[in-house]
Amino acid sequence: MKGQLPHTGPEEGFSPPQRLLMGPGPINCDPRVLRAMSHQLVGQFDPDMTRCMNETMQLYRGVFCTQNPWTFLVDSTSRGGIEACLVSLLAPGDRVLVGNFGRFGALLQEIAVRCGAVVQTIDVPWGEVLQPEQVAEAIDRFKPRLVALVQGDTSTTMCQPLAEIGEVCRDKDVLLYCDATASIAGNQLLVDEWHLDAVSVGLQKCIGGPSGSAPVTLGEAAVAEIRKRHHVEKGILAAHHEEGEGARIASNYFDLAMIMDYWGEERLNHHTEAASMLFCARECARLLLAEGLDSVIERHRVNGKAMADGLAAMNLKLYGDQAHRMNNVVGVYIPEGVDGDSVRKQMLEQYAIEIGTSFGPLHGVIWRIGVMGYNARPDAVFLTLAALEQCLIGARHPLSPGAARAAALAAYG
Ligand SMILES: *Cc1c(COP(=O)(O)O)cnc(C)c1O
Repeated sequence: MKGQLPHTGPEEGFSPPQRLLMGPGPINCDPRVLRAMSHQLVGQFDPDMTRCMNETMQLYRGVFCTQNPWTFLVDSTSRGGIEACLVSLLAPGDRVLVGNFGRFGALLQEIAVRCGAVVQTIDVPWGEVLQPEQVAEAIDRFKPRLVALVQGDTSTTMCQPLAEIGEVCRDKDVLLYCDATASIAGNQLLVDEWHLDAVSVGLQKCIGGPSGSAPVTLGEAAVAEIRKRHHVEKGILAAHHEEGEGARIASNYFDLAMIMDYWGEERLNHHTEAASMLFCARECARLLLAEGLDSVIERHRVNGKAMADGLAAMNLKLYGDQAHRMNNVVGVYIPEGVDGDSVRKQMLEQYAIEIGTSFGPLHGVIWRIGVMGYNARPDAVFLTLAALEQCLIGARHPLSPGAARAAALAAYG
């Protein structure tokens, strides 16, 4: 079966097909965000450009629930935000404790190792969450400088109990970095109240934008550490660190001290701010705060529950500890005798709906269905459930037709 549009070659402009993106990200952008990206460019130091940067910082303080002055964008996908935080905070030989409970925990571990850190992991089976006591015990034993965690790992759909872990790290005087890309705006994330020292995210999950900008927020302690690591004096890069040599931040592009000097009052030239992504990130945050952060999180909770209940009503088994599931993504076991990839292909080709599988040990074992950002809406939930029901009937999975719709309706109350 062909897609909706005739195939064209490179001599034609690219016309992407219309899809409903119900996987673990990216998702369809809010049309208002797309419009913001089509604005004409402004010079890098134009007063309106720097005003836009300042307003974006202010808006993201609202999104992160923080008063941190240093709340800004790293021009890259979420992975670049993670890398910027770790490469700027870690010096070779630093001890780092990483929560290992999904694909992105493994990424934190890899990046920390590349920074020359001595890494130890706290391992939790996929689909479960870390206990705060485990973190406390591991800190006492390993004495790390930094704990690095993912709040919500889309590979497993679990949301970690960050509030308690933040408290533990604060009490033990250890820095806490968190990747909240998948969870922010779909689940509560209180940066100040939970004592999170550095947090990075992306736009393409519940924030409702495309990938390509990584909002970051840094608390006072993290800023002090980063500044200590890097000092620009009379135009000469000099390393300042108690341990001396080897402490210099290894990256230029991801050196948060330099990026702060660019976003701060000094406006020292670093990269050229990606203006279209800035306009886009600003609009994402503006729309989010206009709807109200709590309402946005509640919208994700209700629509995520309708999806989960609908899937369960199709005689499917949900994946992972449901009490700790992120609001915005549901993992569900591919039933016995059904070819998961062939169902995903049918969903895409016949209904133009994308759903995901997972990684590593979960590839081909579960599907992951996202209900996030612009797509956290009842019509997107009903359409996805209806299409999946048809595919499952075709694959001879026993189910009661109409039950999914009824269960989703009931969840909406
Ligand atoms: C989706 C996701 C990312 C995405 O990283 P990109 O570089 O934007 O692809 C990062 N971290 C987590 C936890 C995610 O779920």
